Amino acid sequence: MISLNKYNQKRNFNTTAEPESVIKKSITELVFVVQKHAASHLHYDFRMEMDGVLKSWVIPKGPSMNPVDKRLAIMVEDHPYDYKDFEGIIPDGNYGAGTVMIWDNGTYTLADQEGADNVEKKLKSDFEKGHLSFILNGKKLKGEFALVELNTKDENTWLLIKKNDQFACNDDVLQEDKSVISNLTLENLESFENLKN
Ligand code: MN
Repeated sequence: MISLNKYNQKRNFNTTAEPESVIKKSITELVFVVQKHAASHLHYDFRMEMDGVLKSWVIPKGPSMNPVDKRLAIMVEDHPYDYKDFEGIIPDGNYGAGTVMIWDNGTYTLADQEGADNVEKKLKSDFEKGHLSFILNGKKLKGEFALVELNTKDENTWLLIKKNDQFACNDDVLQEDKSVISNLTLENLESFENLKN
């Protein structure tokens, strides 16, 4: 059952510019977004479209292009599709207060679509099984990745892992620290947004 109730409960749309919850889908390709978020702790949010919402994970250390790095990914509440376009400041006093920057975005496909007559059905069943393999076509993140759920008591604990392919490398992709929308760093975005207010 797809629902954005948890997302709504945490937010007051009179005091934050974050998008209100509307369930919608891409017309053609599935989308993903990675937001860099300077909340009480700096982290990255990885979100991928599934069934009209954005499935969301907090990646405390951010994604890596190195297959050796297994990055902790904590699954959080589904976000509305329009959240992929949110860049700006969540004001003090609101849930997740701080600056949000669109660090990367693009489209994705299932890594193994063969034999899947219905890609979305396969996607959902892989998600339920706690093992998703997908190919990102972003500006920074490219190639095959996996999200794997850990068998811990806390059922929200996953790992984000880069698979070995021609895009895998040792370079720290987080050094590319500008927004793919505004071309500003998080710090510059914050200053710029504060000037507008
Ligand atoms: Mn966040």
